[in-house]
Amino acid sequence: MKLWRTVLAALTVVCATAAVAQEGAPVTALVGGTVVDVDTGRSTPNAIILVQGERILSVGPAASLPLPYGAKVVPMTGKWLIPGLMNMHVHFGLKLPGAEGNALVDETDGEEALRMADNARRSLLAGVTTVRLTAEDHGLDFMLKRAIEKGQAVGPRIESAGELIVPTGGHGSLEADGPAAFSKVAREQIKRGASWIKIAVSGGISDTHGSISAAPMTDAELSTIIEVAHRNGVKVTAHNGSSEAALQALKFGIDCFEHGYHFNDDVLAKMKAQGVWLVPTMVVSQPGAYEFYRKIGSPPWYLERVASTGKDHWAMLQKAIKMGINVALGTDQFPFEPNDGTTATVAEAELYQKAGMTPLAALQAATIRPAKMLGLDDQVGRIVAGQYADIVAVDADPTKDISALRTLDFVMKGGAIYRDDDHPELIAR
Ligand SMILES: [Zn+2]
Repeated sequence: MKLWRTVLAALTVVCATAAVAQEGAPVTALVGGTVVDVDTGRSTPNAIILVQGERILSVGPAASLPLPYGAKVVPMTGKWLIPGLMNMHVHFGLKLPGAEGNALVDETDGEEALRMADNARRSLLAGVTTVRLTAEDHGLDFMLKRAIEKGQAVGPRIESAGELIVPTGGHGSLEADGPAAFSKVAREQIKRGASWIKIAVSGGISDTHGSISAAPMTDAELSTIIEVAHRNGVKVTAHNGSSEAALQALKFGIDCFEHGYHFNDDVLAKMKAQGVWLVPTMVVSQPGAYEFYRKIGSPPWYLERVASTGKDHWAMLQKAIKMGINVALGTDQFPFEPNDGTTATVAEAELYQKAGMTPLAALQAATIRPAKMLGLDDQVGRIVAGQYADIVAVDADPTKDISALRTLDFVMKGGAIYRDDDHPELIAR
């Protein structure tokens, strides 16, 4: 296969006629792959994707799309090309209970920023070209986002919720009490660059106090922070495992829930009716993660809590899928973290398929659905002319089985190749 692709590349260069000469930046041509339309599941075999600068110039069958003279040809025969994967629940500075987390207690902001940059680079190489950060420390996420945008660091596109806002004693670091204090901290995060606000309306699996099923915020606090965010054009998501807290937040127009461990049918029905998003983060509660928790030295009480939460979580996801609730993929593990023999991002998509999604729906949950949730689907999430050239390649048809994502071996973001296992010489940086 490799030889064939090399031969094909040579042939295509020789045969390329002086097609339409493009103004401006040089053109890269991804040649001979099957391009998947993630909206419909239809695919175009033996296609050409022309990329100029950061964006897709045109896409079509090789028979009808001439190669511009001088285009840099990247052979893609035998590959399926899909939009870059998106992961909507990421913490690049993640610290969990256990030995590995304990070793980070004295970490300085500088050390954490560098660790986050390394995690960002590894996420991109795992095929994740856009992330939503759902709680980071001290504005380091905004610094990293700017560094990536300036080309000083390598990583996915970042949308961030800044710090996690909670009532005192809640599941997060930035504490506030009363509507005025919640308004202030939300406005501060937005001023720093948050395009989402993240709150925690219940406890978490890793908490040593509080409860997953409690609803500690008052109506005044919750309605105020959601109103303040919406007045700034910013959406609100809530860490939440509690049905009681979910119903309260739904009353005030919450946009998205993370996890949803113990959500009941009433909550799911209201989410469906209001078009509220669910970012399931299934990988953290399912058996694929046990090895990870043992590796990082999680205490036995934590593993027990994961196992018991996992059963409800799985049943909830199956129902949510059956009801057609908006699901966007998120992991709450590093996007590249080994999980069940692949990365957490791919394992998460596999769990959606296993819980009832079609392979195409699982692929959409990893691409175009998150783009829609972020309001960026005119920029990313599809392989069409005009969008950012965020493209990954796999060796099998992901619309037949989402496990095809396990074979991901090519990553382009913004028109630059960051990974090509078959042609490492084509990597930009
Ligand atoms: Zn999280």
